[in-house]
Amino acid sequence: QVETLKAKLLEQAQEISRLRSEQGGTDAEKHRDLLAAENERLRQEMKACEGELRELRRQQQAPCRDCPRLQENAGLQEQLSQLQREAEETRAKLVELDLEVQQKTNRLAEVELRLKDSVAERAEEEERLSRRLRDSQETIASLKSQPQQIKYIIKTVEVESAKAKQALCETQSRNQYLQEQVGMQKQVLKEMEQQLQSSQKTEAQLRAQIMMYEAELERAHGQMLEEMEVMEEEKNRAIEEAFSRAQVEMKAVHENLAGVRTNLLTLQPALRTLTHDYNSLKRQVRDFPLLLQETLRSARAEISQAIEEVHSTNRELLRKYRRELQLRKKCHNELVRLKGNIRVFGRVRPITKEDGEGPEAANAVTFDADDDAVLHLLHKGKQVSFELDKVFPPQASQEEVGAAIHTAGVRAGGSHLLLTLPCLPQVFQEVQALVTSCIDGYNVCIFAYGQTGAGKTYTMEGTAANPGINQRALQLLFSEVRGKAADWDYAITVSAAEIYNEALRDLLGKEPQEKLEIKLCPDGSGQLYVPGLTEFRVQSVEDINKVFEFGHVKRVTECTNLNEHSSRSHALLIVTVRGLDRSTGLRTTGKLNLVDLAGSERVGRSGAEGSRLREAQHINKSLSALGDVIYALRSRQGHVPFRNSKLTYLLQDSLSGDSKTLMMVQVSPAEKNTSETLCSLKFAERVRSVELGPVSRKAELGSWPSQEHLEVPKRLLGDSPGSAAPPGRGHASPSPGQLSSRSASIRRKLQTSG
Ligand code: ADP
Ligand code: MG
Repeated sequence: QVETLKAKLLEQAQEISRLRSEQGGTDAEKHRDLLAAENERLRQEMKACEGELRELRRQQQAPCRDCPRLQENAGLQEQLSQLQREAEETRAKLVELDLEVQQKTNRLAEVELRLKDSVAERAEEEERLSRRLRDSQETIASLKSQPQQIKYIIKTVEVESAKAKQALCETQSRNQYLQEQVGMQKQVLKEMEQQLQSSQKTEAQLRAQIMMYEAELERAHGQMLEEMEVMEEEKNRAIEEAFSRAQVEMKAVHENLAGVRTNLLTLQPALRTLTHDYNSLKRQVRDFPLLLQETLRSARAEISQAIEEVHSTNRELLRKYRRELQLRKKCHNELVRLKGNIRVFGRVRPITKEDGEGPEAANAVTFDADDDAVLHLLHKGKQVSFELDKVFPPQASQEEVGAAIHTAGVRAGGSHLLLTLPCLPQVFQEVQALVTSCIDGYNVCIFAYGQTGAGKTYTMEGTAANPGINQRALQLLFSEVRGKAADWDYAITVSAAEIYNEALRDLLGKEPQEKLEIKLCPDGSGQLYVPGLTEFRVQSVEDINKVFEFGHVKRVTECTNLNEHSSRSHALLIVTVRGLDRSTGLRTTGKLNLVDLAGSERVGRSGAEGSRLREAQHINKSLSALGDVIYALRSRQGHVPFRNSKLTYLLQDSLSGDSKTLMMVQVSPAEKNTSETLCSLKFAERVRSVELGPVSRKAELGSWPSQEHLEVPKRLLGDSPGSAAPPGRGHASPSPGQLSSRSASIRRKLQTSG
């Protein structure tokens, strides 16, 4: 609004100035022109007057030459010229005045122009103008007083001369005219004053307008103020509202505060305790690093000390362990030697298709539920019981057989517990013990004994899917050798031989029919060897399998009427393990003999004749010789009749000394085989029933085996198993009477089995 008002004000001021210039400018100009024209006219009149005056003077000069009044006239003329001079002066003054008026007019215009800029300036100008006006008036007044003087002089002149009077009259009229002129001038002045007044009026009007505008401005200002007031009020109201709201909020806050304060009051004790706790914790934390360091230091020291102790203890233990290991080995050997290292197991094969059907194929063998070493045989309506080291029922798997072999080994003192067959844990630990013995330089024999078809070959060789002792033992042998490869170099060789009709033949040689001889080593070590026996170096189970197959083809097998696949020869697999300890240079040689014996059935039963009979007789002889040897060994006899057969002679070094022997007696459970089964079991029991005594083996070395020795130790047959040997018996021989009766008994028993 103020802005619009200001704009209006400016517009109106411009309008005023325009009007003013229009009016004032034209008026002043008119006046000036008018005055100029008047002046011109007066000048011409004055010229005319001067001409007339000159004429008059000329007229006067002529009469006055002789006129008495000439002198007077001259005086008057002088006066006139003086008057004329004065008039001239007056005229000059008039011109001056004219100029002055013009200047004033100009100035007025100027003043009028300036008027719009500033009222104050205007007032000053006015003041100046009025002063000048006053000056002008004074001048005019002085001018007025001058004609009166002239009038006076003219009157005096009129008195003196008519002519002069006339001239005077003319001069008077002239004066009058001049006066008129002055009056006119005065009028002009008056007009000018009027103009001044009107401009003053305009000024007043303008002032009024300014006032009005100012009032308007004031009003606008008032409005603005009002609005501002309204706004102020609104603001105040808003402030008040906010204030009240804030108060309410404040109140709520206060209430909250009060609640919080009460809470705080209740919390303060808790806070105090917390602070206390915190402080104590802080103290603890502060002390903790020191404590920790201290503890750590002490712990470290303790630990290092403990480690040191453990280390030394370990060293000590290791030393002790090594000593103990050696001691244990010694003890083990001693124990084996003391307890005897010959075990006798029985294994009953399941009833097969070949057993036929009906009462003949009925099962005649039963087992003891509580004792796995007892077997009952129903023979001709009578139940006969046998006790062996262990009996395997038909359902026993190849692995179990191995496992039992292991337990037997443990019982015998073997404790090589290293497992090498991952999928068959604990199955062949005894076999492993045997294998380990082999690797350590001991000799091992495992026999399968029994009538044809009782499962000898099954137990020893097994089937491809379910291998027997041979393969499992060899697998362990290989893995064992691999395990010791860091320190030892081992060479494993395999020989396969068979004994047929007391003739030893090489199953791997080029001349299988060639009979081989067993000879004593020429180096005087007492060791036996077979010149010409082929040895294959094997490095894996695959090699072994190839050897088996090769040997199998060559093996002499004959059919009997008992079993188509019965074997009439002993099959031997001889594994020799030669070791060299790289660090000590110690050499060891161990032998593992795996023997699948020929069928043990009696000749009469198999109905053999001629060569078959001879075969059977040979077999019977060799088997009885084996029984005698095993018996003699187990009973610690001074003489062991190794030389009674090729088989025992060949295996002499593997049966004596620290060697281990396992006899697996195979039996058929079929009713029709009970008599053979009975024979086999009797053989087994007889071999086993010998009490083990601490007989020194040194005697064996001193005594040379004779036929008598076979019959000597029969005194022991009467002893029950498990009873201790009579102390202090030494190598003393039993009484001859006892001996003869025992020997007769054992001979009978041996004959029943073979
Ligand atoms: P041997 O070698 O004593 O003449 P074998 O080992 O040839 O007897 O066995 C005769 C038959 O009986 C074979 O067919 C064999 O598979 C089977 N046999 C033997 N023992 C077992 C057994 N424990 N489990 C299953 N079958 C067996
Ligand atoms: Mg066989």
